[in-house]
Amino acid sequence: MPVGRFMPFFCWLCVSCLLMTACSREPSTSRVSGEVRMRLPFPDDKGEVRLQEILLSGVENLLEMRGAYARFYFAPKLEPGGLRGEAARARFLRNHDGVYVPGDFVSQQMGALYAHFEKLSALDREVGAGQVVPWPRSVGVSVRLLKDDGALWTDNSFYDGASDAVLVVATTRRELPLSLNPGVIAHEHFHALFYHLVLRDLLRDGLVAQSMAGTAHDDPGLSAPVPDKEIEKKSEELSGNIKLQRALFLKAANEGLADVWGWIYSGQTDFVGRSLPPFKAARDLGRKGLEPLRSDNFRRLYGIWKNGGQNSGAALNNLSYLMGSDLARAVRQAFLDSPAGAKADQDPSRRKVLARRMIQRLPELAKRLRADAELKETGLDLIVELLTAGESAP
Ligand SMILES: [Zn+2]
Repeated sequence: MPVGRFMPFFCWLCVSCLLMTACSREPSTSRVSGEVRMRLPFPDDKGEVRLQEILLSGVENLLEMRGAYARFYFAPKLEPGGLRGEAARARFLRNHDGVYVPGDFVSQQMGALYAHFEKLSALDREVGAGQVVPWPRSVGVSVRLLKDDGALWTDNSFYDGASDAVLVVATTRRELPLSLNPGVIAHEHFHALFYHLVLRDLLRDGLVAQSMAGTAHDDPGLSAPVPDKEIEKKSEELSGNIKLQRALFLKAANEGLADVWGWIYSGQTDFVGRSLPPFKAARDLGRKGLEPLRSDNFRRLYGIWKNGGQNSGAALNNLSYLMGSDLARAVRQAFLDSPAGAKADQDPSRRKVLARRMIQRLPELAKRLRADAELKETGLDLIVELLTAGESAP
């Protein structure tokens, strides 16, 4: 699997291992458990990803990189209730210092994802979300997902609510792989929090389409929010299609707040652009110049997308990112402008104040949507209000 600029990690590691006769293959890493020291690409104090020694805890089976924080499936099938397939196998070599070194890219991904989920679990507990999602998290690696045109997905990541799992597909770009990008991993984890705090009950009660359970990034492939025949009409119909408006509103809220979570965890406003430069400008939370977050923009913007020749699913999906990115910028800016959020870019403990508010107040969003199912009062600006109200609250 080509990993471009990150391949040197491997070349260097493998060569150094060969030179150090000290490096030896564990007889069976399936018996390695507890705390494990591992050499992984992980963010340093400045948030830059570089190879360093990381202590993993709660490991139950190193051969499968399984433990308290994650379990991995190789090329699994997606089924309601979970992923189905074989446990992924990881290859690690142990050097004389007792540090495990990944033997290939998939193993490196598994180690890094485990380390991030351990850290994300600690963040959940710190901000009052310790009980929101079940642990360990399920992760599919080398997942083979087909796009609408029959080609395999690459360079993307997904959260699937029905199986409550994060899905990692192949990497082909030269930049930092999405599966090693701290902000992207936190973004995917937030989709799970949003699913459990907001979407799950709305789905159960039929208030949003079942296809909203998944997230497909920058393409309609996985979620296909609404059947084409329902929305492949004139864009004005959106004003009369409340189910579609709710889907758009929730998808924009989900994607925007997931980007806020990515910023909270990584401290970077441009984490998406670090892996996907074409999306840098569109997704940077530090960008100025925002569309007002009025819900009547849905209709106008949807019309623009549709008239631009997009198919309806792609139009809906792209619009949700456009609105979501504006929401993310508005939430971050409102927080930075408040006393609690001063210097939040530099200070992780400040950003956790916002994370705590998001966890406390997201259930209120689900309540408002039930009370205002026609979206007469509920726009994305409501979310900014919810997250900035009661400034003195922790
Ligand atoms: Zn997303």
